[in-house]
Amino acid sequence: MHVPKILASLLLASLLSCSTPPPPAEAETPVGPPNIIIVFADDQGYGDVGVYGSTRIRTPHLDRMAAEGLKLTNFYAFPSCSPSRAALLTGAYPPRVGIPDVIGPEGPNWTANKQYGINATETTLPEMLKQAGYATGMVGKWHLGHFPETMPLRHGFDEFFGLPYSNDMHPGNDPLWPDLPLLDGDEVVALNPDQRELTSRYTQRAIQFLEEHQDTSFFLYLAHSMPHVPLFTSDGFRDRSGFGTYADVIEEIDASVGELLATLDRLELDENTIIIYTSDNGPWLTYGNHAGSAGPFREGKGTTYEGGMRVPFLARWPTGIPAGSVNHAPASLTDVLPTLAALTGAPLPERAIDGRDLSLLLRENQAPAVTPFYYYRSGNLDAVRLGRWKLHLPHNFRYVDRVANDGNRGSYAYRDSELELYDLYGDPGERYNVAEEFPQKVAELEALAEAFHARMLREKREPFRPAR
Ligand code: MG
Repeated sequence: MHVPKILASLLLASLLSCSTPPPPAEAETPVGPPNIIIVFADDQGYGDVGVYGSTRIRTPHLDRMAAEGLKLTNFYAFPSCSPSRAALLTGAYPPRVGIPDVIGPEGPNWTANKQYGINATETTLPEMLKQAGYATGMVGKWHLGHFPETMPLRHGFDEFFGLPYSNDMHPGNDPLWPDLPLLDGDEVVALNPDQRELTSRYTQRAIQFLEEHQDTSFFLYLAHSMPHVPLFTSDGFRDRSGFGTYADVIEEIDASVGELLATLDRLELDENTIIIYTSDNGPWLTYGNHAGSAGPFREGKGTTYEGGMRVPFLARWPTGIPAGSVNHAPASLTDVLPTLAALTGAPLPERAIDGRDLSLLLRENQAPAVTPFYYYRSGNLDAVRLGRWKLHLPHNFRYVDRVANDGNRGSYAYRDSELELYDLYGDPGERYNVAEEFPQKVAELEALAEAFHARMLREKREPFRPAR
């Protein structure tokens, strides 16, 4: 009588298991959800990192992040501070969550329609991660509304140390602006703080947060005030680069990234922490030698040409991202929240968002399906991109009329764009309008833009507005 095959294989398996030693215990240790750090620079251009081609700024720590992680070459922010922060923290296009434009501080410079902030009905990234058990901390510039109802502690952050908005919004820059508060939680710890210390103070608070939360899953959001003008460095970085104050400022931010990486290593958190580095918009070009570089791209901050919105994006996560990954797929700040939801198991917000889960792009350097990207500026849909093609709808835009240097502001002039079609693969600088050569492509992209914008106008939600 023959032994049935299944019995034979069971017998063999039990014999093998007797003679095979059990695997070492550490191979069985489950890897928990990753810790998350997002470092957000302010007004740093695409060309202001070594691995993005800077010829004047040394960024060894950012370059190391690229070598050990992922670099994206087609990553988009929005044209200015508040909209980009809204997109990062909600996963939605800025108009959808009622933050279409820069939010102003109190004062006669800014009319009532500039006085708003993030609505409590939105689910923010830290609120989402708290549902998965994360400790959440923010250090740096907020700029999603400076009212008690709209500050970070009301929107998912356990801790906050930083400024409510931009570092140029203070009476030294314009006497009509109120004193600029530096906050620790809800408490004002300084008015018009010494900005030479901002980057180093932020860094120390960030390190303190990592030390205090090393035993739990954490999310740290470090939103530097620099290199938004006025530019300042600590004493150790002044004149260090040999290429002027702007380069000194970026080198100090790069050193700050280095300190975070060293802290993760020291705390043995290095392997399972995702650290993301990106910027909120392109360079403020009228500031001349105090502005960054948009690299090969046209225009800068405040515009929907590539120089205004294409920014560096680096992500390092030793256990999750293959070292040395580079990807050219378009992606944007709206994708960060849904990607982190997928990587942490946190539930997505209940209300509609726009971003996509790009976890396979991080884990396997796998480009997502080609989908349209919409270039929103001040609530207006200026342009749409699908794959290699970008169509500008006619809109008014600003360009540099006069550059000033050493911290002085130059001036812009304004004109109307045409219906402009660019092939971003062959013409990343948006110099050769080929709309007449490709009328079908123009029609296709125009139809996409019209349909999406009509939907956005129907679906957009209200921000918080203070009672007057
Ligand atoms: Mg900015």
